[in-house]
Amino acid sequence: MGVRVRYAPSPTGALHLGGARTALFNYAFAKKHGGTFVMRFEDTDQARHTEDGIASQCDGLRWLGISWDESVDTPDAPYGPYRQMERLPLYAEAIAQCIASGHAYYCYCTEEERAREREAQEARGCMPKYAGPCRDASQEDIQKWQSAQRKPVVRWRVPQDKTFDMHDLIRGTVQWHSADIGDWVIARADGVPTYNFAVVVDDIAMRISHVIRGEEHISNTPRQLMVYEALHATPPQFAHLPLILNDQRKKMSKRDASIVQFIDQYRALGYTPEALINILALLGWAPDTDQELFSLDAFVSSFSIDRIHKNGAVFDPAKLDWMNNHYMRTLPLDVTTERIAPLVAHLVRIGDADEGTTLPVVRTRAWLRACVDLHVEPMRCGAELAQWMRPLLPGVVQMSDDAREAIREGRDVIGACAEALRHVHTWQASDIAQALKNINTSKKGKQLFVPIRAAVTGTIHGRDLARTIALIGRETVLERLHAAHTAHEFSMKHTDQ
Ligand code: GLU
Repeated sequence: MGVRVRYAPSPTGALHLGGARTALFNYAFAKKHGGTFVMRFEDTDQARHTEDGIASQCDGLRWLGISWDESVDTPDAPYGPYRQMERLPLYAEAIAQCIASGHAYYCYCTEEERAREREAQEARGCMPKYAGPCRDASQEDIQKWQSAQRKPVVRWRVPQDKTFDMHDLIRGTVQWHSADIGDWVIARADGVPTYNFAVVVDDIAMRISHVIRGEEHISNTPRQLMVYEALHATPPQFAHLPLILNDQRKKMSKRDASIVQFIDQYRALGYTPEALINILALLGWAPDTDQELFSLDAFVSSFSIDRIHKNGAVFDPAKLDWMNNHYMRTLPLDVTTERIAPLVAHLVRIGDADEGTTLPVVRTRAWLRACVDLHVEPMRCGAELAQWMRPLLPGVVQMSDDAREAIREGRDVIGACAEALRHVHTWQASDIAQALKNINTSKKGKQLFVPIRAAVTGTIHGRDLARTIALIGRETVLERLHAAHTAHEFSMKHTDQ
């Protein structure tokens, strides 16, 4: 059996950076070794499960360009179902087998009894772990609890005085002693297995060769090793990926609203899947060169587990911005335009050009392409264009204070510019640039261009002026220049702003 790896999210919400990184590394490992990438949904924790959790995981990965060979949408795949709640009979069988072999037992303790036990242990300064009567209960006790209608959970009988070794491909050998692990619950009273049990049953049944997952699962591994042993199965190779840290080098918390952490949020902001793949690739893995830019294919061919490091991997949003800018600039302009179009759809609708004043205005695709082309250089994410595009559309421009000041000081230039542009009829950036050069004024450089920009866009900074003017359109530009040149508000200093 060749390489078979899996990404096994609990569908409790949208696809997170951490989940996407785990999926990417598993995908890369499978692709690199001609193996199979399985996606299994661990939905046994029904309280945390969200209805669209599965769909949003699938959509997010698909958008990133990560595909899988076996999952809920591959009906002919051989090891299904790929959703744990549809695999309950398999777990029931394994639970029965473990009870029969003495590796597990029914526990009838009530929640209150357990809570009392935990409190007492904590009061003694001991680690809380199951020390109740059910591990070695007599037949008589069991009958008593059963006739009291107690619904049992199933607990693992943790062997005494035993060590468990995990040979991790990233961290080497990690060892645990059974004395530190209490008898843990493998199935709740309703028969639904807990994560540590179900994951092993599935990884065995699905012939998983390598378990590549987040570091937070290291502490689960000894429990899982016990189950492999009891079920007479060889454990897979483990590789635990380093934690993802925030810029303060603290474990990134899903609840930290100051960092955008979900793939669909990045998508809505106009980040490219290429940039996300690239930043995820470097979260814990590094090539042996100083190459920083990796396409998905390049990552797959360079990937190897021995270049994954143990130390936490810092997620740097500024680096993501830099990468995203790189991809937006270097992808074909049509591709970048297509991707940005939905983000500005509330402002611009593609159709036959027409200067409407209500949003969304109608503009040609060529207009949008030129607009993206003009702004892409400083753009960190596509959503920025929505903000930058506003002054290019008909309607009243929002004037900054600087712009008002520039207009007040450059009214003569604005008048001369209006005059020059009135004679431009083709309204191409090159003709406009020529006309701007020929403005009849002695002013030069900033004194010339800043008042004009202020008058037509309401700001004193921006992209190439002639191209900006071309995009705004002749009628609107002439109107704005006229308004700035003649409006009373710019003829004197306002004190009430
Ligand atoms: N369902 C687990 C999670 O979402 C996966 C654990 C594993 O990969 O073993 O974290």
